[in-house]
Amino acid sequence: MRQIESIREMQEWSAGQRLAGKRLALVPTMGYLHEGHLSLVDEARRRADLVAMSIFVNPTQFGPNEDFEKYPRDLPRDRALAESRGVDVLFVPAAAEMYPPGDQTAVTVAQLSRGLCGAFRPGHFRGVATVVAKLFLIAQPHVAVFGEKDYQQLKILQRMVRDLHMPVEVVGLPTLREKEGLAMSSRNAYLSEAERMEALNISRAIAAARDAAQSGERRTAALRERALAVLAEGKNTVVQYLEIVDAGTLEPAEVLDRPARLILAVYLNGKRLIDNGPL
Ligand code: AMP
Repeated sequence: MRQIESIREMQEWSAGQRLAGKRLALVPTMGYLHEGHLSLVDEARRRADLVAMSIFVNPTQFGPNEDFEKYPRDLPRDRALAESRGVDVLFVPAAAEMYPPGDQTAVTVAQLSRGLCGAFRPGHFRGVATVVAKLFLIAQPHVAVFGEKDYQQLKILQRMVRDLHMPVEVVGLPTLREKEGLAMSSRNAYLSEAERMEALNISRAIAAARDAAQSGERRTAALRERALAVLAEGKNTVVQYLEIVDAGTLEPAEVLDRPARLILAVYLNGKRLIDNGPL
């Protein structure tokens, strides 16, 4: 596995491989890799000749009071995991190069960024869309693989490539979970054992709403109550939002008459966790 830090070098590698007729995949991450990230690499392998993974804790997608400084980082471990899974190039750019001094350009995907996480993290999705646009221009992938774990992000990036005519296919993959149901996340490293136990309520809440939907409940208000009741069992859990939305537009859904998604964010002792699932 080759590690590349310079933007120019990454662009030259990709351009050379494209010229040689290779199909390229990119898996963008913030590192501290887990099996969820690696499942994206497996899919990238199936869809391309060469797989690049980026590791970049992107400062512009963190708010001033968020966890940018303490976000978990372990490049040696990530490098070993990426290599063992067959990543061909690990791209690890420096923030100073990604954001040239005096930069003035950003990508905003307006409507899809408004609700859900966007309502509580102003500027977050602008940071995400901007960094992913940069990564696409640098790594020049034919296909990029993302997780449904960050469902709103996935929809925003799919909209971005359509709107900007980027020649990249954005693929979304289902969330990988621990055996008990907790969605894998780098931020799970923040949780104590007791908090991990309480966090199981999150996937249970989604399952409760799904079970009720499968039993015929169509009113999303009732499904929402089911999920909130499960989360209310956790003494240290504070729900930031829990919404049932159209799976494509992310607009609130009143009844389940088309594909919908339950999406939520909670604080567990101040540690923010997100999850979602289809209904
Ligand atoms: P992150 O490092 O958190 O920015 O995530 C990088 C990519 O991995 C994003 O596309 C995420 O949606 C995806 N991802 C994160 N957690 C999971 C998971 N549990 N299962 C599948 N994909 C995931």
